[in-house]
Amino acid sequence: MALIVHKYGGTSMGSSERIRNVAKRVAKWARAGHQMVVVPSAMSGETNRLLALAKEVSPAAIDAAAMRELDMIAATGEQVSVGLLALALQAEGMQAISYTGWQVPVKTDSAYTKARIESIDDARVRADLAAGKVVIITGFQGIDDEGSITTLGRGGSDTSAVAVAAALRADECLIYTDVDGVYTTDPRVVPEARRLHTISFEEMLEMASLGSKVLQIRSVEFAGKYRVPLRVLSSFTPWDIAIDEEAKSGTLITFEEDEKMEKAVVSGIAFNRDEAKFTVVGVPDKPGIAYQILGTVAEANIDVDVIVQNVSHDGRTDFSFTVHRNDYQRTLDLLKNTIMPATGALQVSSDPKICKVSIVGIGMKSHVGVAAKMFRTLSEEGINIQMITTSEIKTSVVIDEKYMELAVRALHRSFGLDATDEQTA
Ligand code: ADP
Ligand code: ASP
Ligand code: MG
Repeated sequence: MALIVHKYGGTSMGSSERIRNVAKRVAKWARAGHQMVVVPSAMSGETNRLLALAKEVSPAAIDAAAMRELDMIAATGEQVSVGLLALALQAEGMQAISYTGWQVPVKTDSAYTKARIESIDDARVRADLAAGKVVIITGFQGIDDEGSITTLGRGGSDTSAVAVAAALRADECLIYTDVDGVYTTDPRVVPEARRLHTISFEEMLEMASLGSKVLQIRSVEFAGKYRVPLRVLSSFTPWDIAIDEEAKSGTLITFEEDEKMEKAVVSGIAFNRDEAKFTVVGVPDKPGIAYQILGTVAEANIDVDVIVQNVSHDGRTDFSFTVHRNDYQRTLDLLKNTIMPATGALQVSSDPKICKVSIVGIGMKSHVGVAAKMFRTLSEEGINIQMITTSEIKTSVVIDEKYMELAVRALHRSFGLDATDEQTA
């Protein structure tokens, strides 16, 4: 008998029929003798609907007081899901009970709309499991020290599930979604993308942080920190397939590096269209200038991603950086009203229509010329690179958003990842 955590995403919970299917699948695992904890997301489209409603009422809700209310609203989607799933399980003849984040409780900090989990009290859950119940816990939410409801950022149910699995020291955390595993890139953009049977934790971390939304980045961080065995698999297989077969399907995130294994130079391509770029033109080139610009941005709680500073001409330089597109207007206002006057910069230019495309692979550590091949591929397609950033196992470029799909497809092909190519992973 094992303790297993299942997580079901919005599409998997998207209708009453799908919820009944989830219940049948969970009941199958419970009847096989496993202790089951289930973490569902809101039904697909529901979180968007709730946040759109909030925007209708108050278009510019961005201060802390407003963020608290956004979380109050957004968290309700998951509350409906857990109740429905518990009912569906009971209709299957199972004992099941649902909890919201605050009932468990899942304690978080107070960073509304992007809170971090600090601790999970497992007492209630363990007692229910011991009594033979299936326990269903809302994804995406928790409660802070003040007793306010918080949410964990979009895609946060993945993190809830992994954190619950870590707290309960579960034997495995299975992330059920609408694709049958982690692919070399988003299969909705590149139909030739190939499913990976395993992906190393390091690579998954990079893929998630660079935009592959199949797993929220914090869920991968949690899995790494607490060594939670993690698998991504499909919720659209027939619910009654054999458990042995199901347990081996999808993609396993691995923690041990197998030295003998031939490492793919590039194992995946990630992209992110959620960024916007700014250039501060003609800023005086003197010590402290980067701090003056980025320190001010950081004080406004805006995360900066890619940064490039040009060589100087006549004592002035250009300084470019990217932020999340949601922070576009705030950053522009800060640059124009505060940073430009303070630094004596000549001009600010901005572009909300850029995207970042990245190649990821552990094999890049031991191969030279991988980045050069990336640049050659993009130049052959006539795509201009605006910014470049590299680390040991990834290279990212910022390009015009309209070339994103072309770039991802070309790179997928040139690094031999297309399904028709000989398998490299
Ligand atoms: P859920 O609602 O189950 O959490 P998400 O929409 O958050 O599902 O994540 C699954 C989606 O992630 C897939 O439908 C797919 O389009 C996208 N995706 C992006 N990159 C990848 C990748 N490398 N492998 C698999 N899916 C990916
Ligand atoms: N319902 C939340 C969202 O749409 C959390 C999740 O689905 O993981 O972002
Ligand atoms: Mg998701």
